[in-house]
Amino acid sequence: MAGCIFCKIRDRIIRKEFTYEDSDIMVFPDIHPVAPVHLLIMPKKHIGDFLMIKDKGLMMRLTETIQKMIKEQKIEDKGYRLVVNGGGAQLVDHLHIHLIGKIGQKLKM
Ligand code: 5GP
Ligand code: ZN
Repeated sequence: MAGCIFCKIRDRIIRKEFTYEDSDIMVFPDIHPVAPVHLLIMPKKHIGDFLMIKDKGLMMRLTETIQKMIKEQKIEDKGYRLVVNGGGAQLVDHLHIHLIGKIGQKLKM
């Protein structure tokens, strides 16, 4: 998608070290972390909004990747949160899930 910053990261137009990558999914740290762990987990394919997810397989692979990242970052018992902004609450219109961790019981909604 032209102009999309996450598509540019995917295409290596903007250089960014990936925490994880496979043929469908990429993970990299948020540029403005709000906690000691703050990863952005997303499909490589440009999907504009959570409501536009149609592929159950992709959803499952995203879930598996999130689980893997929680374990790799060793935050399974340190407090973590998953956030998806949508419907205009998002800054970047390329579906991504924030994994925010080491938050204990802080950051209550
Ligand atoms: P949203 O509000 O769309 O859910 O979150 C977008 C996130 O992307 C923000 O937390 C912001 O800090 C992050 N972000 C924006 N531009 C870049 C960038 O160029 N690189 C990285 N790694 N993160 C970015
Ligand atoms: Zn994109």
